[in-house]
Amino acid sequence: MDFGLKDKLALVTGSTQGIGRAIAQALADEGARVIVNGRSQRTVDDTVKALAATGEAYGVAADLATAAGAQQVLDAAARIGPVDILVNNVGYFEVKPFAEITDRDWFDMFELNVMSGVRLTRTLFGGMLLRDWGRVVFIASEQSVKPNPDMLHYAMTKTAQVSLARGLAESTRGTGVTVNSVLVAPTWSEGVETFLGKIGPEQGKSVAEMRTAYFDGPGRTSLLQRWATPQEVAAQVVFLCSARAAAINGAAQRVDGGIIRSLF
Ligand code: NAD
Repeated sequence: MDFGLKDKLALVTGSTQGIGRAIAQALADEGARVIVNGRSQRTVDDTVKALAATGEAYGVAADLATAAGAQQVLDAAARIGPVDILVNNVGYFEVKPFAEITDRDWFDMFELNVMSGVRLTRTLFGGMLLRDWGRVVFIASEQSVKPNPDMLHYAMTKTAQVSLARGLAESTRGTGVTVNSVLVAPTWSEGVETFLGKIGPEQGKSVAEMRTAYFDGPGRTSLLQRWATPQEVAAQVVFLCSARAAAINGAAQRVDGGIIRSLF
């Protein structure tokens, strides 16, 4: 199937590892030109080098938790060309009881997980509408609709992304632009491995034990019964970014491993 992605310019935020990197690679595999982003110049350079084996790749090291960082990414993208595809992937997660989540924690989580997407989309969306083609995808989570009480600040940002995607899609009426969100399952990324490596010892467990125990117990509703791979998530995102997905707009699509127990 031709996805119609050849030579499209895609910007994938937080794409030096994990889900973002898999999305960047999958887009490159389909012939898209890809701009990758992360905070460290070294990891950005390494990722660009790896992607360059497949196609045209660019990198920008910038901290998307700040307005200045978002502007750096936008400036770099403007030098490369009009962005056809924006994947708002960057995000972080942490476990904290509600009573211990400080005001700073709430704002920090919002700044990276939500405002990065707001800032980039605010600038790039208008051009997509003018050119009558574009794709914006927000990488949300199963927690967008099934918030984990031990990470409510994170879950809140993931719900906000779904609302943003749906609201923005309303402005695309009659154009070739779509805006969607993807509700991602627990996915075995480098970020998750580091995260479990931190909280495992507190619970007297190794990362390997945490990895297998994750799907057992009450309230654990995964049908997949294992961590998804970044590549399994990327496959869905690439389809949404493709010309083939023109009729999918304003949707919250699940790659949730069957965790969300509802019909729609
Ligand atoms: P990860 O931690 O493995 O990778 C995050 C990427 O973002 C890295 O490339 C990192 O360098 C970059 N990054 C982090 N902070 C940054 C900043 N301030 N500025 C620029 N770049 C920054 O993460 P992941 O697990 O692949 O998650 C990616 C997205 O998927 C997140 O939005 C996350 O909420 C979502 N998600 C992940 C899971 C999961 O289980 N892994 C589940 C649902 C949703």
